[in-house]
Amino acid sequence: MSVDENTPVLRGCIKLPLNKEELIEVTAKAKDYAIMHGAAMRSKTSFSPDSLNFAPFVLVPSSFPRKEFEKAIVLQPIINRLMHNVAHDEEFITTTLAETIKVDEFTANLFNIYRKVLALGFTQRISLGMLRSDLMLESRCPELSPLLDTSASVGAGAGDDAEDGQEHEERKADSKANTKAEKGKPTAGIQRSVSSSSAYCCWKQVEINTIASGFGHLGPASKTIQSFVLRELGHAEKLQRMPKNEALAGLCDGMVKAWNIYAKPESVILFIIEDISYNICDQRFHEFYIRETYPHIKVLRRTLTEVHNEGKLGQSKELLLSGNTEVAVIYFRAGYEPGHYPTQGEWDARYLMETSLAIKCPSIQYHLAGTKKVQQALAQPAVLERFINDPEEMKAVGKIFTGLYSMDDNEVGNANYEMAMRTPEKFVLKPQREGGGNNVYGLDIPDALKRMSRVERSAWILMDLIHPPLSQGYMIRPGSDVPPQIVDMVSELGIFGVVIGDADHIIHNYQAGHMLRTKLSTANEGGVAAGLGALDSPYLI
Ligand code: ADP
Ligand code: MG
Ligand code: MG
Repeated sequence: MSVDENTPVLRGCIKLPLNKEELIEVTAKAKDYAIMHGAAMRSKTSFSPDSLNFAPFVLVPSSFPRKEFEKAIVLQPIINRLMHNVAHDEEFITTTLAETIKVDEFTANLFNIYRKVLALGFTQRISLGMLRSDLMLESRCPELSPLLDTSASVGAGAGDDAEDGQEHEERKADSKANTKAEKGKPTAGIQRSVSSSSAYCCWKQVEINTIASGFGHLGPASKTIQSFVLRELGHAEKLQRMPKNEALAGLCDGMVKAWNIYAKPESVILFIIEDISYNICDQRFHEFYIRETYPHIKVLRRTLTEVHNEGKLGQSKELLLSGNTEVAVIYFRAGYEPGHYPTQGEWDARYLMETSLAIKCPSIQYHLAGTKKVQQALAQPAVLERFINDPEEMKAVGKIFTGLYSMDDNEVGNANYEMAMRTPEKFVLKPQREGGGNNVYGLDIPDALKRMSRVERSAWILMDLIHPPLSQGYMIRPGSDVPPQIVDMVSELGIFGVVIGDADHIIHNYQAGHMLRTKLSTANEGGVAAGLGALDSPYLI
């Protein structure tokens, strides 16, 4: 990550460091609390289907500017509608992905399914979109959206609301004088002197996910753990700054709404899963929520291989599994990376489901609409106009994009290539992949690009690096040091959205909660399942 001594530090939720004995005690309790409330995962290093490790988490919530959080919440239904419109624009998807599918086999396979389904006509016109728009704060925001506290969390901790008011006044004064003020002495990382004139930020979209948007359970569960910790530490009053998070209910209700539209009482909801689900709690809590809230709706879990082996279409193209169980809704928690399709059989299963009457989350057009290439195309104002009529909405959505650049083999793409070679430290290079760990960052970009032919580059997009502000706190992971040390961290907020409809109508469209993941400031990526990030939740400042 591009973090330096000028990176602003967000004021912490409580004063740190904690006293050593208190820290050891509360950490031990919080670990048990996490396991016992399903904030857990299967271990990748010592896997057993019979046991769980707690998922890494940040001990107390990380600060997030309220104004930016609220902006993201309000914008989500507009983003939902945008993605719904994009998914239904055949011409746009086809032209946008034309170069990419020449060289990216995985996207080409998805596109082939799309092409075949288009030729046949859609058996099911309704799609279920369960999206997650991921964003980071940009601390070098040119628009200077007012932010934030420049005082380091360590030693300078946030006070109650009255104190907050006072601190705001101080900030104003600093800002006027435009001085470099040193506030608080972090015990972690470099000691930072923070310029208040640079301490503004606005959020920028990292990406939008249209398939397997996880953490509907772990998002709210993170809030539960951190609320427990804050209460244990005697800071119950802080809980009111942690926004409500009903992601699990919001997403599951989305599946149930789709099930209702399908309108067959005996039909079931199918979860498509990996061979081994490490992120098992997140998935199972979706299932348990549905079973407990709507006991008449059954949930099945199957891998793509199992669907290949047992799935078939009925007379009206209904998807039938294990004999004659009819599937109303398919929720893909797998199928987003090449490894999920070890043989042609899994691709055949995907195609079978796509041609069936079941309502898919996502349908193939939604999956393609979530590719990085489509996101890059959307970031151009002229393109956005095609999908959003309202000028105010256009403006609001236009602002969330950071620079995104095509690497296609044409004049524009070649100029972007030159730019990446000249100033790689400004960028991240992304392929059409999901699930983390696929990007190339900063100074690694030139070597990666040199290894590609001109045509191969069109499988990638280039994006401006975002420079999030830091927060400081304790990250608790299985097997890590006791007591934990204070570390520098950066966060990524995900906002969930549910949208249901067909090419002509949107039937349901709502924002559905959030999740926050936090990683060490030195790490490029912070997937919790991938092992680098930690569960977190926002503390609004
Ligand atoms: P994936 O679909 O694999 O999750 P992302 O686009 O979300 O791909 O990239 C993975 C991770 O890389 C993000 O979670 C974030 O930590 C980091 N990242 C991606 N884009 C940027 C960016 N523009 N600036 C800084 N970090 C980024
Ligand atoms: Mg993604
Ligand atoms: Mg991501």
